[in-house]
Amino acid sequence: NFGQRFASYDRSMREKLIFEQKIVNTMVESLQREEFLVYLQPKVAVDTSRIIGAEALIRWKHPEFGMISPADFIPVFEKNSFIYSVDLFVWEKVCRMLRDWKSKGITGIPVSVNVSRTDLYHEALPETLTSMITAYGLSPEELHLEITESAYVQNSRQLPDAIRRLKEMEFIIEMDDFGSGYSSLNTLSELPIDVMKLDRLFLYQAENDPRRQKVMQFVIDLAKELHLQVIAEGVETEDQAGLLRKLGCRYAQGFLYGRPMPEAEFLACLAAAPK
Ligand code: C2E
Ligand code: MG
Ligand code: MG
Ligand code: MG
Repeated sequence: NFGQRFASYDRSMREKLIFEQKIVNTMVESLQREEFLVYLQPKVAVDTSRIIGAEALIRWKHPEFGMISPADFIPVFEKNSFIYSVDLFVWEKVCRMLRDWKSKGITGIPVSVNVSRTDLYHEALPETLTSMITAYGLSPEELHLEITESAYVQNSRQLPDAIRRLKEMEFIIEMDDFGSGYSSLNTLSELPIDVMKLDRLFLYQAENDPRRQKVMQFVIDLAKELHLQVIAEGVETEDQAGLLRKLGCRYAQGFLYGRPMPEAEFLACLAAAPK
């Protein structure tokens, strides 16, 4: 009955608000205590399973809630502008990691970091990122930037400008979650993108749907025509990998090849993977 349903909706809304309030109350201290961790997920070549790079994904080892997913806290941080501090923390962690790898002779594995759309509104973002990589002795092609497609939606000039300035500083720009929502061919023709990451749902829905496969084929061919590297996200099964081969999508990321994992585990995977 409606009354009951409304009551439980009400309760879950309240629980959500309490949860959000609690994470807002603890976030600053958590950052100081380094309760945020950076996991790495391999990006691979579909035909050889060679590891071509990694994506850095944040995890929060919360004192009360245990490991919580970025899907639960990133949107909250984006609302209260704490996101920039957290992203700076992640980017710097990744820079330090890349510098360590270099000193151990591990090279040629670029790591992508996620850049929130709200980070793009920070005027000094391109300079900040450039001084960060310089301080760690890195070049821009070692730290790729994943910018989610929704960042392009608000058609203000500021966002494309920020992306263009990052590109001028020679960062590699990856369009994250392509096909997830408001994909616009406009963004493809206007923005200097280097990599297109096909959203997980795109692949999932195409699997048993010839019409969607045609659309996917078209998008992959178009990306190639534009000299973009195409990476399929969320590859979980051999069947999906087979479809990617059929469609000519050469790169992938997903549980089939490796889950997001701590750095040490990633390095072990890298050592064991085909060269
Ligand atoms: P994303 O950037 O699209 O990252 C891919 C997400 O898909 C990750 O979720 C990853 O764990 C998950 N994934 C990878 N392979 C598979 C698969 O085969 N199957 C399924 N079902 N999922 C897979 P995660 O780590 O929970 O992150 C969620 C989102 O949170 C990310 O989506 C990204 O938008 C955001 N995020 C994560 N870390 C950061 C960060 O440091 N900064 C910012 N601003 N956002 C972040
Ligand atoms: Mg991403
Ligand atoms: Mg993605
Ligand atoms: Mg995503």
